[in-house]
Amino acid sequence: MIHSNIIRYRNQFLDNFLAQTCFLCQANSQQAICSSCVADLPFMPTKVCPHCAKLVKNREICYECEQNPLPFNYSQAIFSYDYPIDILISRAKFQRNLVILNWLANMMASRLSILSSPDILIPVPLHPKRLCQRGYNQSLELAKYITKQTKIPLADKACKRIKNTTPQTSLNNQQRQKNVLGIFEIIKIEPHWQHIVLIDDVMTTGSTVKELAIILKCAGVKQVDVWCCARTL
Ligand SMILES: [Zn+2]
Ligand SMILES: [Zn+2]
Repeated sequence: MIHSNIIRYRNQFLDNFLAQTCFLCQANSQQAICSSCVADLPFMPTKVCPHCAKLVKNREICYECEQNPLPFNYSQAIFSYDYPIDILISRAKFQRNLVILNWLANMMASRLSILSSPDILIPVPLHPKRLCQRGYNQSLELAKYITKQTKIPLADKACKRIKNTTPQTSLNNQQRQKNVLGIFEIIKIEPHWQHIVLIDDVMTTGSTVKELAIILKCAGVKQVDVWCCARTL
């Protein structure tokens, strides 16, 4: 544990040192991404379905959500999962680049539309084995930052992942839904948590957050929303 903390602090120090230049264009920048690169980022379009956060044309709610309502209520993402956001998220996630992770979290905290404050934030849990390999849960790190900025409390031990599944990226839609069946377990949720927000880094088909929303709704939670950093469109 001490050894992994030393590695983490060393990486954090290196990340801070490297943050003197923009990660994308190498121009001098106090931020991980300079303002001219930020202007070119693939921000989510404004006309999206409030439930699944996918693009809609000439309607409020998309056809799919109208026909088959999702187990969660509302979702929002800051970016579409395109270049260079895919690269930034991958660096934050797999190379422990905490400067980029904090920058992504800051973008979420400052740009999320928070109309009614939820009772609690729950980051999508990682399986302990995956957590051990990666060193940290990127969704928890995003949630911690959002909590700091918004003062919405965070519960990182409310649920746990009990199955270590095949990474979803290699699977099609149907396989993804099957792959996540029964992977979560509720540890403890308080009766007054009636509006929960799940924090995730990327939403693709939404299978993982759907599964988590199902067990939370079964446990009596009235509203479950999803806030993620990026979404595939
Ligand atoms: Zn730049
Ligand atoms: Zn929809």
